[in-house]
Amino acid sequence: MSPERPTLLFIFAHPDDESFAGAGTAMKCAGAGAHTVLVTATRGERGKAGNPPVCAPGEIAACRERELRDAAAIIGFDELHLLGYRDRELADAPRDEMRRALVTHIRRMKPAIVVTFDPNGFNAHPDHVAISRFASDAIAAAADPRWHHDAGPSHAVQRLLWTPPIAPWDAASSDRLDEQPGADFVVDVSSWRERRIAALRAHRSDRHFFSKPHLDQILATEVWRHAWGPALRERPARDILDSV
Ligand SMILES: [Zn+2]
Repeated sequence: MSPERPTLLFIFAHPDDESFAGAGTAMKCAGAGAHTVLVTATRGERGKAGNPPVCAPGEIAACRERELRDAAAIIGFDELHLLGYRDRELADAPRDEMRRALVTHIRRMKPAIVVTFDPNGFNAHPDHVAISRFASDAIAAAADPRWHHDAGPSHAVQRLLWTPPIAPWDAASSDRLDEQPGADFVVDVSSWRERRIAALRAHRSDRHFFSKPHLDQILATEVWRHAWGPALRERPARDILDSV
């Protein structure tokens, strides 16, 4: 890791995306001295209120925002930015406005690494696909001073990571994970297990994760696909901060 404190920027669509994907990596990198920032595009207001419900149907947006803020505090993000676009309609967000918002954040934070969904949105959720596309668009624009010259000096992100093509519960039961295409970073996050469980539990309206078998193995490892950046010395690599 370079002597300067690197920034990791996580760009996701909904409250809970950060706890399903990225919480362990964020905590591990923060423990190694990185500055970690979360940008969440929607308040997840069209999600469910939980079973049993944790809030009235009309309060889901406020409830999920509260859950997100609690989870982000547990994970220890240095900053959280909620963009407030409409849940399940992210693909229709005004593209110029979205680009400007993300370019402004990227140029101010100067992240070495950005983490987001892969182009298939991990589970093909249209909002996940949309935020992946918006993130790549904004990273390219942030590096080009001709775009939004009033949004600060240009900044080139060094590495982009995507969620992998294998789900965490499938990765956990795979004995040949290293051979999977897209398993480019396999990060041991087992030391952060309890805090990750606490972050997941902060999302009281969504307990999906805890119904999975192999929970201990799921919580021990996070896998990332290398979208682009400096060549990896080994594949899978074990440390996302290496060489940035
Ligand atoms: Zn999501």
